[in-house]
Amino acid sequence: MRESELLAKIAERSASLTRAFPHVAVGPGDDCAVVRIGNTDCLLTVDQVIEGSHFRKATPLDLIARKAIARSISDIAAMAGTPVCALATGALPKGFEQSKADELFDCMKRWAEHWACPLVGGDIASLPQTSDPMTLTVTVIGSTHPARGPVLRSGAQAGDGIYVTGKLGGSFDAASGLGKHLTFEPRLAEARWLADTLGARLHSMMDISDGLGRDASRMADASKVRFEIQPELIPRNTPDWRRAASDGEDHELLFAASGEVAHAIASSGLPITRIGSVMAGSGCFIIDGATAIDVRDLGWEHT
Ligand SMILES: [Mg+2]
Repeated sequence: MRESELLAKIAERSASLTRAFPHVAVGPGDDCAVVRIGNTDCLLTVDQVIEGSHFRKATPLDLIARKAIARSISDIAAMAGTPVCALATGALPKGFEQSKADELFDCMKRWAEHWACPLVGGDIASLPQTSDPMTLTVTVIGSTHPARGPVLRSGAQAGDGIYVTGKLGGSFDAASGLGKHLTFEPRLAEARWLADTLGARLHSMMDISDGLGRDASRMADASKVRFEIQPELIPRNTPDWRRAASDGEDHELLFAASGEVAHAIASSGLPITRIGSVMAGSGCFIIDGATAIDVRDLGWEHT
């Protein structure tokens, strides 16, 4: 099944879930679920990193631990939330040294605390074979922004500007396996500033994990609007905008905010760039001269 079909199914299920269980405000399909516990909305997200897919056997344990934690923290940032605590599990290949397992969990604990998100529980299990890939799973619980509330993917409106933080593309160095995909800084501070400063005028936000093209398409679809992106405006680590828009694991923020806040954002001094505009309609297009290129197929498709 293509990931796009899978996501449509998830959205369908999410809608019936929120009908059946009113304490679930947002189910699967956004960066985090939003669940009401008592009188409080909580953010919940879980993500995993797998040897061979997200890191290599030779990747230093500290960087593996950092990535495992940072990916889930980035999802909390994408909702303009604040991390509260984390839970982690590790499935380690048979024969994995105890001292290395301890080091790995110490590193995860340190990175979790670095983002003020203490590791409050977890589990380690041994995989059946020495050749099985190490897998780490991290759940993060977060609080929503006290004034703005959770910023969803579905709020972009015609007339909004489309923005990204940082620079896109080139996060994975194919020769070494290293790069920004292991060392990115989750955009908690930028997300907090946006929610503090723009409030309800911050309409929609997500983190870019599967490439700008694919993720911007998801936001346009979720918001039922059309995105038009100017390729020359995409801030990038690679000369080619097609690569910048299709490379994965940027973990930058993509957001849409009401047109009148463009000046406030531009003068914030934060690494934020306007890359396009939201229109009535559907789809996500890069406007290359006179041609509107459908960017749906620029990002990663996990098959
Ligand atoms: Mg995400």
